Amino acid sequence: MTNHITHWINGSSWTGKADRKSDVFNPATGLKTGEVDLADIATIDEAVESAAKAFPMWRDTSLTKRSQIVFKFRELLNNKKEELAAIITSEHGKVLSDALGEVTRGQEVVEFACGIPHLLKGGFSEGVSNGVDVYSIRQPVGVVAGITPFNFPAMVPMWFFPVAIAAGNTFILKPSEKDPSAAIWLAKLWKEAGLPDGVFTVLNGDKVAVDRILEHPKVKAISFVGSTPIAKYVYETGTKNGKRVQALGGAKNHMVVLPDADLELTADAAINAGFGSAGERCMAISVVVAVEPVADELIKRIVDRMGKLVTGDGTKNSDMGPLVTKQHRDKVASYVEAGIKAGATAVVDGRNVQADGAKEGFWLGPTLFDNVKINMTIYTDEIFGPVLSVVRVKTYEEALKIVNDHPYGNGTAIFTNDGGAARRFQNEIEVGMVGINVPIPVPVAYYSFGGWKNSLFGDSHAHGTEGVHFYTRGKVITSRWLDPSHGGINLGFPQN
Ligand code: NAD
Repeated sequence: MTNHITHWINGSSWTGKADRKSDVFNPATGLKTGEVDLADIATIDEAVESAAKAFPMWRDTSLTKRSQIVFKFRELLNNKKEELAAIITSEHGKVLSDALGEVTRGQEVVEFACGIPHLLKGGFSEGVSNGVDVYSIRQPVGVVAGITPFNFPAMVPMWFFPVAIAAGNTFILKPSEKDPSAAIWLAKLWKEAGLPDGVFTVLNGDKVAVDRILEHPKVKAISFVGSTPIAKYVYETGTKNGKRVQALGGAKNHMVVLPDADLELTADAAINAGFGSAGERCMAISVVVAVEPVADELIKRIVDRMGKLVTGDGTKNSDMGPLVTKQHRDKVASYVEAGIKAGATAVVDGRNVQADGAKEGFWLGPTLFDNVKINMTIYTDEIFGPVLSVVRVKTYEEALKIVNDHPYGNGTAIFTNDGGAARRFQNEIEVGMVGINVPIPVPVAYYSFGGWKNSLFGDSHAHGTEGVHFYTRGKVITSRWLDPSHGGINLGFPQN
């Protein structure tokens, strides 16, 4: 018996019959666990119509009521988050504790959105001219869509929908077809929290759904997260069609280690950030740039720790789970082969892993390369797996240049005990999110998340005040309430 996963339209499960479906797997067992419906054009149009119909009612629902519903959603989520974490582990493969961490980080954005009355406050200037006041307001944009990746099936959607919905928009989520069940669980939770039908929609699908969303005239704004080629495509197509688009892309995050760094802390950080969630995080560290003479000592410590890591079923006591699909596991393994062929030193080769789980699981153990050169594909490409490369350099300047020359600019970190060096790094580095002795510097919900260069297309980052701006339009009102005797004709701009 496998699950049937369908769309969530107008407050309930879709009852139609899909022509196209996609298989969903449990990566730890390798078994097919479900089939997800892939939306056709008619279903997408039905979903957009339902979201468009709900918009005027939701926009005009009072701020008090809207924030109460978001608050209720937060309470329900907080009470039931283990349930959601288990769903994530069953379709994504990440270990349960990490899945719970993902939900918690998403919940923080919900908590931020509970403060929407404050976040939407405008400005007011009394008496800018005789009897004239000016004030600004922010209004929702309408039907907005989120198109999200497989690697955070709950957190990434929650970067967007709490803020969008709290601000008065109606939201269509198009989750990854690889792990779609979390989105449906979240839709049911919204219903339980009292969100009116049509305000939150889940449309399952692939390129067909994305393309229709990109061209649908009633969709006003799109938040996309995924690989860089698709992010660029979504940004270019969506903006050409007159939509607001923020499209977050791929990453290659460097960790620069200076010779004065605390090597115990640094080795722990490299392990956690390199192999957590099997490297399937957009903020994972995939390159250590070791400023000599630090490399030998650091690698020794990293290898010691790697020997203790358990790769296995995420529902058991493992440190690292499987990769999301067999195809993705094979692709990452092919990079390991390419690294060896290119002449890098495979200090630990994860292809030999003895996983604590079913033989058919999509396993690949943590892999460490030394002597990686910047022309090798293991350096240039986003691998999105548990493969950590060490690039040795002689100076800080050389390290800085390497990071700045890379086309991705999502996250980076520096490990050092020198405050002056860290301060210089934060100033000179061309990356959107920077950690100082922090390997995964994901901003908290009230700041905004986003990279530079090929890691983000558009100018708005996710959540925080930039998220509020993205989902609202500003309006400035100039009002005059005068005694009738103050009228009179004047064709010029007022002078006082
Ligand atoms: P992906 O690009 O394959 O898919 C992302 C979304 O796009 C999915 O909903 C998918 O259905 C859709 N899609 C896939 N192919 C498409 C096509 N040809 N046309 C239109 N839509 C298409 O990404 P993924 O493999 O699900 O996720 C991993 C990627 O996401 C990595 O590159 C990772 O770095 C990136 N990511 C980035 C961030 C960030 O904040 N910058 C966060 C998480 C993940």
